[in-house]
Amino acid sequence: MKVYVETYGCALNKADASLMKALLLNGGHEVVDNLKEAEAILVNTCTVRKDSEERVLRRLRDLSRNLSGRKLIIAGCMVSTQPYTLKQVAPTASLISPQNIAKIVDVVESQNVENLIIGIRDTSHLPCNVEGRVASIPIAEGCVGNCAYCIVKLARRKLTSYKPELIVKSVREAVSKGAAEIELTAQDTAAYGIDLGGINLAKLIKKIVDEVEGNYMIRVGMANPNTLKPILDNIIEILKEPKVFKYIHIPLQSGDDKVLKIMKREYTVDEFVNTVKELRRKIPGITIATDIIVGHPGEGEEEFENTIRTIHEAQPDKTHIAQYTLRPRTESSKMLHVSEKVKKIRSAFLAKTVEEIGTKINKEYIGSIVESSIPIKGFRENSIMYRLFNYKPMVIYDYKVMRYKNIALITNATFYDLRGIYIS
Ligand code: SF4
Repeated sequence: MKVYVETYGCALNKADASLMKALLLNGGHEVVDNLKEAEAILVNTCTVRKDSEERVLRRLRDLSRNLSGRKLIIAGCMVSTQPYTLKQVAPTASLISPQNIAKIVDVVESQNVENLIIGIRDTSHLPCNVEGRVASIPIAEGCVGNCAYCIVKLARRKLTSYKPELIVKSVREAVSKGAAEIELTAQDTAAYGIDLGGINLAKLIKKIVDEVEGNYMIRVGMANPNTLKPILDNIIEILKEPKVFKYIHIPLQSGDDKVLKIMKREYTVDEFVNTVKELRRKIPGITIATDIIVGHPGEGEEEFENTIRTIHEAQPDKTHIAQYTLRPRTESSKMLHVSEKVKKIRSAFLAKTVEEIGTKINKEYIGSIVESSIPIKGFRENSIMYRLFNYKPMVIYDYKVMRYKNIALITNATFYDLRGIYIS
């Protein structure tokens, strides 16, 4: 079958789509990039926020009306959290939840409409698919948190980690297929192995760099402050490894302790700030990314000002901002809500704040000499993008001859990237 795959949402959902593509290819099917060629359509859904849900439902409604006999399969978090809503917009679609993705080939080949909603994730095999020079590898599903606003918990449930040997095998396969960047993803990579015992994220990465040869770099996915804290020293040591990007993404969500309590995030603002300072002290030039939810119930003017103050204190390179949206069956959905108008004003103010901080950090690179080696096609014609040791994107414009390993002079910087010229 020619299968067209469309995925929405987070790095883990993208890694799941990559895993399903690998299973389909190993099953003798073809993954096509053009919807017109497709005999089956697989949509991997996201429902983390109201706007992501609406976008996916619009797409499914449109696809469902123009199927002309083709098969529609819906996967991703919405299958677990809102299956009835999906059946309303796409009554003839087969449903496969994140826990059942190992059965994707059966569902594609089945003559019936399948509804695989309940189940436990089969972590006995982990084939990988390389997209361009990047391989996204899920190391675990689920988490140990119980955040009041989060619908993902209802979709991904309890923590289920893949065995370290299986992940090492998958990384080796990815590198043999030309992957130069290995993304280790999960809802919370720092929780990795808590369910297995005797292994954690730092030990896993050590096993990978010791056992997999080749020219590749590892990027660690999102890690929560509370699960990161107990393994912070190990993580700092492993981030010093040459094959690991000096990059970490630690979602803060709010810079106010009262709101963190309401969110059921199990850490304090001070713990987050101290973790960031420790990382910066021990790993010079590390890139720190974070997330903030603006307008969560309980966030008043004073609490929002605390978030702004915390962002100024922590100085993250990147901050992803999301306006709180009500998610069904979550605790926060029953709380008093902040108005849309106020959320808009606050997130605009925060966006300006984080852009000033990120741009100031990037401008400090101007005039510096940097080394990089993994070229990726640039976004603009005749440009090349490299990832530096700390995952910062460096763009070379109007290059004559593309160079792999190169030395460049940073001549300019924006909030989004560094700009440079080759000097050797
Ligand atoms: S850690 Fe919290 S926000 Fe993250 S997936 Fe789990 S419950 Fe959701």
